[in-house]
Amino acid sequence: MSSIHADPPPPIVTEPSGINYATGSALGKGGFAICHRAERYDGSRPTGHMVALKIVKTKMKPAKLAQKFVSELQIHSKLAHANIVTFYRAFSFQTSTYVVLELCPNGSLADMLKKRKYLTLPEIRRFVIQMCGALKYLHHRHIVHRDLKTGNLFLDENMNVKVGDFGLAALLVTEKEMEVKRRTTMCGTPNYLAPEILEKGKGHDEKVDLWAIGVIAYTLAIGKAPFHASTKEEIYKKLKSGNYTWPELSATTNQSADLRDLVASLLVPEEQRPPPDQIVSQNFFKIAYVPASIPSSAREKAPTWP
Ligand code: ADP
Repeated sequence: MSSIHADPPPPIVTEPSGINYATGSALGKGGFAICHRAERYDGSRPTGHMVALKIVKTKMKPAKLAQKFVSELQIHSKLAHANIVTFYRAFSFQTSTYVVLELCPNGSLADMLKKRKYLTLPEIRRFVIQMCGALKYLHHRHIVHRDLKTGNLFLDENMNVKVGDFGLAALLVTEKEMEVKRRTTMCGTPNYLAPEILEKGKGHDEKVDLWAIGVIAYTLAIGKAPFHASTKEEIYKKLKSGNYTWPELSATTNQSADLRDLVASLLVPEEQRPPPDQIVSQNFFKIAYVPASIPSSAREKAPTWP
């Protein structure tokens, strides 16, 4: 987790309803928010319920970000799925806006990858299945996340994946609205960008999330994104060409023909990408070990599988 240099939050944060949160250690810092552990209190009585308290300095950020934040809340507050970070509530206290979220105490897949370099195939199977469950739920509701990446995939206390950070999520209700919502600005981290996003006026439908699943599966196995490069421009160039390679099989990578097929099925032009249900019915997930759970020790050290 990145080091955090910010003013400490008030020790007690109070909702207008009177519920208190005792703030604890920092969890991480994002573009315009900082997250702390907190315990919920009913009046002066501790409940033992730990949450993630996301603190957004309302005075600090430009109006545009404020707008983004409101849309994030509107979308996120309506979602309920085992693999999506639960949104509890949002409120203002003193000069900040607070968002109360389900605590994911095991960090993100990006943190795990940093420590581990690459994951085992059984872990990748379980994580991808869980991501696909979340995506099926979102896409069914015409919600496109648009910023899926290892840093936005959090791990709960049982090492289940929870999709978080709905800052760029777009709610696409109808074709007409979709047209209106299509942004000319580019969003997202370049490594996970679907190539159609580079084309003006294209690439804001759910297919961009399917591309990201392909990038994530590759990255979890190899430790580097398939279109990895040192500059944005080089990444764009690689993306446009659509060419990526797998490193030689070695002790420092982790791949199989079925994994390569899975990734190849996703890193294709948008109309060819399979939806979540079809992703998880591919060979990579069949007649292969999918763990029923992953120990939290896996954050640091590869588990041994039967
Ligand atoms: P931003 O919207 O500004 O990018 P994020 O949502 O990414 O902010 O949150 C900032 C950081 O806080 C994350 O990178 C992560 O380390 C941590 N974080 C966010 N949500 C949670 C959560 N539900 N549980 C644990 N840590 C979290």
